[in-house]
Amino acid sequence: MSLPSMEFNQKRWNRLLLNGFWVVLALATAVEILYMYFVTELSAAEFFPRYVALPTLMMLGVVLSAEGCVRYLAPKYHDYFLIEASTLLAVIVTAIHSSLDYLLFFLFFPIMISIFYFQYKKLAFAIANTFASLYILYMLNVDIHTLISPIGLVSMTVLISVYSGIAFGVLTRGREALQHLRSSYESNQELLVRNILMDKLAKTDALTDTYNHMAYHEYVEKLVEQADQGSLHLQIAVMDIDNFKKVNDTYGHRAGDAVLREVAAIARSKVGANDFVARYGGEEFVILFTELEYPAAYDSVEEIRRTVAETPHDSLGGLPVTISIGINRYEPGMGKEKFFQGADAALYAAKRSGKNRTVAAEAMNVSQEAAAASEDNR
Ligand code: GH3
Ligand code: MG
Ligand code: MG
Repeated sequence: MSLPSMEFNQKRWNRLLLNGFWVVLALATAVEILYMYFVTELSAAEFFPRYVALPTLMMLGVVLSAEGCVRYLAPKYHDYFLIEASTLLAVIVTAIHSSLDYLLFFLFFPIMISIFYFQYKKLAFAIANTFASLYILYMLNVDIHTLISPIGLVSMTVLISVYSGIAFGVLTRGREALQHLRSSYESNQELLVRNILMDKLAKTDALTDTYNHMAYHEYVEKLVEQADQGSLHLQIAVMDIDNFKKVNDTYGHRAGDAVLREVAAIARSKVGANDFVARYGGEEFVILFTELEYPAAYDSVEEIRRTVAETPHDSLGGLPVTISIGINRYEPGMGKEKFFQGADAALYAAKRSGKNRTVAAEAMNVSQEAAAASEDNR
């Protein structure tokens, strides 16, 4: 697993480094010009070509070729090329002002830059560059040769070694911290995935792969809240397989399980993505419709009922089963209990009136009211 925000962004850092090179070039040139006007006793005609024009041109050549490398060479060369370019910039500045011994510290430049890359081999490459430039300058540059005694050279070598050791330490510490961060990120990710899986498992009925009783209660509560605000058309259908005890008794429990799975699959396949099928218990399922208006929800459960009645089951020797359904529409303020009970009473009415049918709670209320009215009239 990767840690995207921590991944080394080679392109971005190299651009930053190149910008840094341009700043070094501008600063070096600006300092030379100030030096020419305010410090040196040499005339401008003597000073300018040697200390301004020459180093600026040389540094410009280095920075431009670094830009070219990043643009045209394969990325695997970029980092090494930029470390090399930083070495050359340091050598140019040091060599031009070879009389200023403190400028030798500028030779640390590539080591500092290589730390950006967070890789030992690049740090080692930079250290080799620094030592090479120190010794080459010492051997070839007369000023530096006379300015630094052999003891001085040994001291410089020791100093560079010490700083290199510190750079290695910084790198190791940084990599340790990164590793720590990466592993805690990974374990967090794993935990998150595991939590999601556990949550799904806790809400799913293992046999039918629909939601379970607990999930039904959790969701209906939230949906009823929304429906109370009038922002949702909510319908509930309670469906129950007819004569299921007989199915079990005749064909066995395993055959019954297969039928439960198939009925659940039919129900799932007929509802919309925002509708919700749960196994309420035993051979009883609940569907919450959140997308459909009332008549469409009724049509949808009728479609399920017909399909179930027409689907033969291998486990029952090719016979189908039937289901009875009670359906109820949510009215704001009704509450989840009354909402369910309305559908359950309609289911009971469907069972009593012959099974394999859908009864709407609304129609039942109407007929109950009519019955009550005719009682009153008698
Ligand atoms: P009705 O048409 O009135 O609904 O009659 P019924 O036989 O379907 O209803 P009843 O409540 O008498 O029986 C339900 C049966 O469902 C009894 C039980 O063995 C069976 N059942 C409940 N859960 C499961 C299950 O997970 N697997 C199987 N195979 N059978 C189950
Ligand atoms: Mg039943
Ligand atoms: Mg039942």
